[in-house]
Amino acid sequence: MQDASISSAPLLGIDLGTTNSLIAVWQEGRAQLIPNALGEVLTPSAVSVDEDGSILVGRAARSRLTTHPERSAAAFKRFMGSDKRFELGGQSFSPEELSALVLGALKQDAEAFLGVPVNEAVISVPAYFSDEQRKRTVFAAELAGLKVQRLINEPTAAAMAYGLHEQKFERTLIFDLGGGTFDVTVLEYSLPLIEVHASTGDNFLGGEDFTAALLQACLKDWQLDIAKIEPQALATLCDALEQLKCRLAQGPQSLSWKGAGELREWRLDESRAQSIWEPLLARLRAPIEQALRDARLSPRDLDSLVLVGGATRMPAVQQMVATLFGRLPYRHLDPDTIVALGAASQAACKARDAAIEELILTDVCPYTLGISTTRGEDVRGAFSPIIERNTVIPTSKVQRFYSTHPEQKVIRIEVYQGERPWVRDNIFIDAFEVQLPQVGRQQDLDVRFSYDINGLLEVDVTLLETGERHSHSIDRSPTGLDEQARANSRARLAALKIHPRDTLPNRALTARLERAWMHSLGEERERIGAWLDEFNAVLASQRGEEITSRRQALTRLLDELGA
Ligand code: AMP
Repeated sequence: MQDASISSAPLLGIDLGTTNSLIAVWQEGRAQLIPNALGEVLTPSAVSVDEDGSILVGRAARSRLTTHPERSAAAFKRFMGSDKRFELGGQSFSPEELSALVLGALKQDAEAFLGVPVNEAVISVPAYFSDEQRKRTVFAAELAGLKVQRLINEPTAAAMAYGLHEQKFERTLIFDLGGGTFDVTVLEYSLPLIEVHASTGDNFLGGEDFTAALLQACLKDWQLDIAKIEPQALATLCDALEQLKCRLAQGPQSLSWKGAGELREWRLDESRAQSIWEPLLARLRAPIEQALRDARLSPRDLDSLVLVGGATRMPAVQQMVATLFGRLPYRHLDPDTIVALGAASQAACKARDAAIEELILTDVCPYTLGISTTRGEDVRGAFSPIIERNTVIPTSKVQRFYSTHPEQKVIRIEVYQGERPWVRDNIFIDAFEVQLPQVGRQQDLDVRFSYDINGLLEVDVTLLETGERHSHSIDRSPTGLDEQARANSRARLAALKIHPRDTLPNRALTARLERAWMHSLGEERERIGAWLDEFNAVLASQRGEEITSRRQALTRLLDELGA
């Protein structure tokens, strides 16, 4: 018999979030969060290039978004799957390279915590992430030296964590509003089975949009043109608005900002915020209605309502949900950490850990997948669905198609995802060609789509004339990246100098002090300036214990200031 404690690799789950990322491990029959070098479980998904060219990830990088916006980036997950590049301190990064740096930091934290090498993990993605975005996530993990054991949809991961804690739920709607994405999932618990009935969402709607709406309203009130504000002043304002948004639940808030030549004040209360956010709140309703329709349920049929994601802390969002469903949502578990805990539970499920063996999860494909065909005389490229949205996965579906004329030599299969009747309005996934035998008549062909539990697709084409079968595994590499581009990413990341993990707490404190200095004025600013000088002097002394005790004391002082 094999001793599991010797052979088993750590069972890890990662929540790679727009705003924060977390890593959890399944140990001693439960999922536990792993702290980073600062002893915190939330690692901001932010990257900054330090003045010496080294890479900072996490809290220090987030503080530097305000002090050094031209060397720092955050919320890059929103651009996963696009060609956007981020220029940081003269270096250029793709969203997946920046995500790889965050994943690499989490990997290091896990290795330091567990004392063993970490090579694989279950990683969560928004349910509504497209095929391309999933592939880029897998590629980001590969760049970080991590094999993806499975991609799990974020709301499904949350459902697993709830399933382990609560035995009483039945039909549940999970409302997951993170920093950059919104997912709605309707599922049913009949433990040990957790069955996802429908998943919908919006990949371009999250807490960041609520902050962006505040920025627009504030600049409009001040009659300022965003293009005329210098980047650092704008970053300070965005940062102050983000903090103001997060404090709004405590009552009306105000901020003061020095920029564009003046010191200005802005006040916000819940009712003004509601009116600024009305268009965003309205956008949250459509996916909820669609998920319920696809699951063939009405709000009355739901037994419970679960809120996940940091942005569900907004009273305006909670109120909208309560009004829509006529009841209060359930939020006993921390919305920030639940997805990572669920992902680690999924890793345990996959490894058939005895404590979790019982739980069985079924998920769905959240969007329709199909091919481009001609419809009647119309040659614009009609979308012919093969796997309809919210089909339980893994699934394999076949549809029969015909060549268009007897002399046709080749047939081109173009694969798309989406819900619109014409392919040009949907998302292109991949294309390939199949040679047709020349038999002098139109031919039938069966196109089979197989969609696996990671949300990845394979296509088989069978020519009925000859029985010939063409299997086409949809390219596992991201569509926009050829082998050369991927090799370049690998080389670029390998050449980077990552800031040493053991000095990160000090670097994070100096970055925080600099940010606090920027936000403050007058006496408070002088005091923070003195702390900064003092801490730099202690750092120069290189006396380890003194550095630690001053760092702890200054952290407490900054916490008291709310800076
Ligand atoms: P997540 O991706 O789940 O970490 O969610 C991050 C989003 O939650 C960001 O847009 C934050 O601004 C938002 N958020 C976190 N805490 C709060 C809060 N207390 N009030 C309002 N929004 C919050």
